[in-house]
Amino acid sequence: MSGVYTESLNKLIEEFGKLPGVGPRTAERLTFHILKAGPAEAMALADAIGDVKNKIKRCEICYNLSEGKICQICSDKRRDKSLICVVEQPKDVIALEKTGTCRWVYHVLGGHIAPLEGVEPDDLTIDKLVERVRSGNIKEVIMATNPNMAGDGTALYISSLLTNTGVRITRLARGLATGSTIEYASGKMLTDAIIGRQVLE
Ligand SMILES: [Zn+2]
Repeated sequence: MSGVYTESLNKLIEEFGKLPGVGPRTAERLTFHILKAGPAEAMALADAIGDVKNKIKRCEICYNLSEGKICQICSDKRRDKSLICVVEQPKDVIALEKTGTCRWVYHVLGGHIAPLEGVEPDDLTIDKLVERVRSGNIKEVIMATNPNMAGDGTALYISSLLTNTGVRITRLARGLATGSTIEYASGKMLTDAIIGRQVLE
């Protein structure tokens, strides 16, 4: 293919081709779409990519994605700050928020404990969560880590650290299939799991 296109076209095809779910033909199609597009449209894409990389950081309270020091959810006065929902990834926040039933705030761990993959508790924001729970007026910590072995293990580990705080610790209900992920669960299933959450023992 490299002899057919110019260097810059090849480069763009190659970059599009690195995106998840984009095969060589789609990468080619996208590249020619950009080539045909007006300068404003093409540069808007380039700028949007630049903004995502330059502007997005972690919220200083919950570690969710944010453009300011504090994310929109943590800054929302209508949220009940005494309820902390613990998730693995920012994508899980989005999935839960889409149900429209959440009035809590979050804590994003940045993954799950997986010693075999070299992920230890110290690599996650677990210590910050414990600090948050100890320092504030927290009533409930809702474990919304994925309902698979790693997620369950992480939830149990965290709850063991929080047992002497007197805070109620719950886990999303079992409507979520074991082994599945929050990210891909349907809104209805997540809503049921939120409403039916149980005390974690
Ligand atoms: Zn936040």
